[in-house]
Amino acid sequence: MTNISATFTLGDLQISQLSDGATFRDPKILFDGVDESEWTHALGLKSTDELIPFNFSSFLVESADSKLLIDTAYGHRDAEPNTESCAELLVRMSEKGVQPEDIDFVVHSHLHFDHVGWNLDKDGNITFPNAMHIIAEPEFDWWINYEGNDHPLKEKVQSRINPLIDNNQIKTFVGDYKVNEFLTMIYAPGHTVQLLESGGESLLIVGDGAHHPQHLIHQDWHPIFDWDRPQARASRKKIASLAIEKDSLVTGVHWPVLTLAKLSEKDGRYALKFIDRD
Ligand SMILES: [Zn+2]
Repeated sequence: MTNISATFTLGDLQISQLSDGATFRDPKILFDGVDESEWTHALGLKSTDELIPFNFSSFLVESADSKLLIDTAYGHRDAEPNTESCAELLVRMSEKGVQPEDIDFVVHSHLHFDHVGWNLDKDGNITFPNAMHIIAEPEFDWWINYEGNDHPLKEKVQSRINPLIDNNQIKTFVGDYKVNEFLTMIYAPGHTVQLLESGGESLLIVGDGAHHPQHLIHQDWHPIFDWDRPQARASRKKIASLAIEKDSLVTGVHWPVLTLAKLSEKDGRYALKFIDRD
C-alpha cells in the first residue's frame, strides 16, 4: 500500500505532501543515457525492467496565519491503472481540514502540466479563488507570451493559467523571491525550488530539479525531460549546493510520500541520508 499523504512539522510550520497520483514509472525515462548497471545498483534494482514508485503531488504548508500550496499537481483526469489517489488532491486536502477557498497562495515551481493541473477544477472553474498564484517571470513568459514556444502541451498549460490572468490572480517575480517570512522561491533556470525556513530548520522542495533523489547525488544523470542538459546540470548543482550550505532537509513532488533526506558532499562525491519525521 503506497502512502498517499503525510504531515510533518518544520519549526512553526505544518507541512503535508498530498498525492494526486501515487503510481509507478519505468526508471529508464529518469536516467537517460546512464549505464544501466550504475542506476540499477544505485536504486537497488535486480533488473532494468522493474518499475519504481513515482508521485504526482503537491505540498500544503500551514502556518498560524496562512495556508499555501506548492504546485497544483496533475489535476482532473480519468482513473489510471496501478495508481492510488489518482486526481484526488482535493480529497487529500479536505482530509487535512483544508478547503480550496482557504488557500492564500499557490506557488508554482514551473508550469509543466503536472504542476498546474488543479488550477482549474473538473468543471473548469478556478479551484483556489482566494489564492495569488506566484510564478517566475521567465517561466511565465515562455509559456504565455513567447510565440516561438511550440511545446505540444502549450495550449493545455495556457488553459490552466489564462483564467487566472483574467482574474488578476497571477504574480510574477525575477531572480529569487521571498514570498513571506518563511518561504523563498530560489530561481534555478528551468525551475524554481522552494526554501522553507522556520524554527532554525529548513526544507528544500526540489520540484523537477530532481525527479528522483538520485538526481541530487548524480547531477549529470538526466531524465528524458531535460532538453537543455548543461543548464539542467548547472541548476541541479545549484540546488545541491544550497541544500548542503543550509543543511536543509530535501524532498520532491515526484518522490514517494514521504521522502525526506539530507545531502552531503565529500571530495566531490555526494550522498543522501534518509530521515524519518512525524
Ligand atoms: Zn514534474
